[in-house]
Amino acid sequence: MAIVTPIETPPGARRRLSLANPATLEPIGEIEVQTEDDAKAAVEVARKAQREWGTLSFADRARVMQRALRILLDRQDDFIDVVLRETGKTRSEALMMEIFATCDSLNFYSKNAAKILKTQKLKLHGLMRLMKQARITYRPLGVVGVISPWNGPLILSMNPSVQALMAGNAVVLKPSEVTPFSGKMVAELFEQAGLPDGLFRVLTGDGETGAALTRAGVDKISFTGSVATGRKVAVACAEQLIPCTLELGGKDAMIVCADSDLDNAAGGAVAGSFMNTGHYCCGTERVYVVDDIASEFTDKVVERVSKLRQGAEGEFDVGAIFWPNQLDVIEDHMSDAIAKGAKVACGGRRNPDLVGLFYEPTVITDVTHDMKIMTEETFGPILAIMRVRDEEHAIEMANDSPYGLGGNVWTRDKQRGIEIAERIESGSVCVNDMTMTYGIQEAPFGGRKNSGVGQVNGETGLRGYCHAEPIIVDRMGGKQAAKMYPASRKQDDGMQKFMRMLWGTSLGRRLG
Ligand code: NDP
Repeated sequence: MAIVTPIETPPGARRRLSLANPATLEPIGEIEVQTEDDAKAAVEVARKAQREWGTLSFADRARVMQRALRILLDRQDDFIDVVLRETGKTRSEALMMEIFATCDSLNFYSKNAAKILKTQKLKLHGLMRLMKQARITYRPLGVVGVISPWNGPLILSMNPSVQALMAGNAVVLKPSEVTPFSGKMVAELFEQAGLPDGLFRVLTGDGETGAALTRAGVDKISFTGSVATGRKVAVACAEQLIPCTLELGGKDAMIVCADSDLDNAAGGAVAGSFMNTGHYCCGTERVYVVDDIASEFTDKVVERVSKLRQGAEGEFDVGAIFWPNQLDVIEDHMSDAIAKGAKVACGGRRNPDLVGLFYEPTVITDVTHDMKIMTEETFGPILAIMRVRDEEHAIEMANDSPYGLGGNVWTRDKQRGIEIAERIESGSVCVNDMTMTYGIQEAPFGGRKNSGVGQVNGETGLRGYCHAEPIIVDRMGGKQAAKMYPASRKQDDGMQKFMRMLWGTSLGRRLG
């Protein structure tokens, strides 16, 4: 059952797609696939609107974001309904991962952008400070293209947009073809909040529309999605010499140390792995547990996972697979692992009792690094557990991956946990918690290795939507530059003498 189906359209007309709810398979609407011309027109309109927006004070911009926050709080059930219809996730996940996180983003950046982006006076070093003054001004880039995936359709569209807008840019958003209605809700929210006309535009469509946006004249692309598409976006940006951030896939490892609290670790493994049906970029996909405690830990995990309720209505713990392509990946990884000797401890099949796209919460053991389930992103409700000799072996296995997005370590010894975290080759690591760095607004978030380029969020992320422009002022009104010519040997000799005095003596080096 396709969740996104092309609709037949007359020759020359725009392509259209019809969408269905993955949990119930009921139709939920249609979208138009917007073209290259649409993308260019959206960027042009956005650029015009940005000129004035870019001159407003942070307080003026923050007022719009604060209004959006109040509207979102009032209308949260409408937003949740839209997210649930197009993803089939649980209500609690929509509430926490989408609404709560979006409210936090709106409030954080509207409160902190002025502080993070205020003009900075630079304290220059040595004698330079006697001659020059310097300041850094954070200037908006212009129009930012935001391209978002289907697993967090509201937060992953809103969070980059809020940051780009607070920094003074316009935004053109291209949400996933699987979740376009959440993207449209973002536009509706900003419109109700009073964002100037044209400043925020949404393009609906599929990959072709995304590709068109990357070439429509934007000044930066903020991309969240798969490694394969990220590479295409990187090429498009490189060809135009525009910056991009690429927040890509992951294969997060969890390390369970011999001294960890096994109940907490088992609970953390289940939360990290099954949240959002496992469609979580920082989801726990690989668990490395020290041999001595592996049986007890695995029993505790299996006991918890066997009790997870799956469904489409009412109260349940694990929702649908958001679209059939991911179900194919999950089934491929599972059959590859089983064929190579892995054992299914629970789950391991589509849920036969539900009509939609459901895969049972699954625990799989006896896995090795010859299996796709341990090396490629599965992005589903699957928890793979591997026994390791000791913590050193766990670190080695955790680092044996082309990905490096998140990860987590469980131990009663906090300091040891931090030391292990520092040795994991990953964008971020949590100690005694599922990976939730994206939810900590102050923390820069981004992957290493194939998991991405650049960082979003916090000071680093917000400044990434600006050009940091140094402005240098000569303290002597330009006398020094004016004396540059004619060049003379005498002047060079003087300079060499000065350099020997400056860096050739310990006092000079201290002052220099
Ligand atoms: P995709 O890479 O398939 O799609 C991401 C977005 O890019 C979609 O809007 C898609 O449109 C669009 N797109 C497709 N082709 C192109 C193109 N040639 N040029 C520009 N844009 C294009 O990812 P998914 O939507 O499948 O999302 C899941 C992936 O996202 C997982 O790998 C997950 O780990 C990762 N992710 C990473 C996060 C992070 O912060 N590091 C956070 C969340 C998810 P359309 O869908 O319409 O084809």
